[in-house]
Amino acid sequence: LHVDHPLGAGQTVPLSQPQAHYLFGVMRKGTGEVVELFNGHDGTWTAEVTEAKKKAGALACIDRIAPQRNAPDVWLLFAPIKKQRTDFIVEKAAELGAARICPVVTEFTNAERVRQDRLQAHAVEAAEQCGGNFVPDVTEAAKLGSVLAEWDPSRQILFCDETRVGVADVLDGKQGGPWAILIGPEGGFSDAERARLRDLPFAHPVSLGPRILRADTAAVAALTLWQQALGD
Ligand code: SAM
Repeated sequence: LHVDHPLGAGQTVPLSQPQAHYLFGVMRKGTGEVVELFNGHDGTWTAEVTEAKKKAGALACIDRIAPQRNAPDVWLLFAPIKKQRTDFIVEKAAELGAARICPVVTEFTNAERVRQDRLQAHAVEAAEQCGGNFVPDVTEAAKLGSVLAEWDPSRQILFCDETRVGVADVLDGKQGGPWAILIGPEGGFSDAERARLRDLPFAHPVSLGPRILRADTAAVAALTLWQQALGD
């Protein structure tokens, strides 16, 4: 279970209403039972349920059973698409270990309002179910142009687009980070966006193969290839 509370031996951790519902209503845990907790900073801890009410509860930390793992230093920048597919991208990016997930609005982005709080909650659920002990940050949607204008050039970008250069060609022999992956919307990037990205010294146009993938598939494929080359 992910909590926003410091973890340490004997530490009491109060539960919010949704956490209590999940633990006691869905997972059927009760007083005296032991669960695993993480907060993204203090590693994974076992904790005993000391109070189990319908809308609240508390746990007492026992032992640290795993050190804190840091996310591999790769961010996913993606143009939001339909709601369910955007949810899918966030969920899979969290499972695949993206450290930060950034919805970026491009010229051809055609999505409903992007709710950062909903997407962050999806990232928490995905992190809980895949057994890691960090949760990626999901940022508020921002225009691609503004994101690039403030970009730290030490973070290189795998710009997924039509090109003959494979991901492995770019990543071979490189060190672990920092990197970002950029995926466009269903309509792809505009000519102006392509020209701008191709001019940036820290952006590398890459292909994910000869087939045109849906944006959600492309995000999963690119993160998987990055993890295989540089992840841990
Ligand atoms: N008609 C669009 C175009 O011509 O660019 C197709 C866009 S595709 C459905 C959505 C996004 O997924 C693209 O902008 C790109 O970032 C990524 N993508 C899909 N297939 C890809 C491939 N084979 N290589 C690199 N990126 C790909």
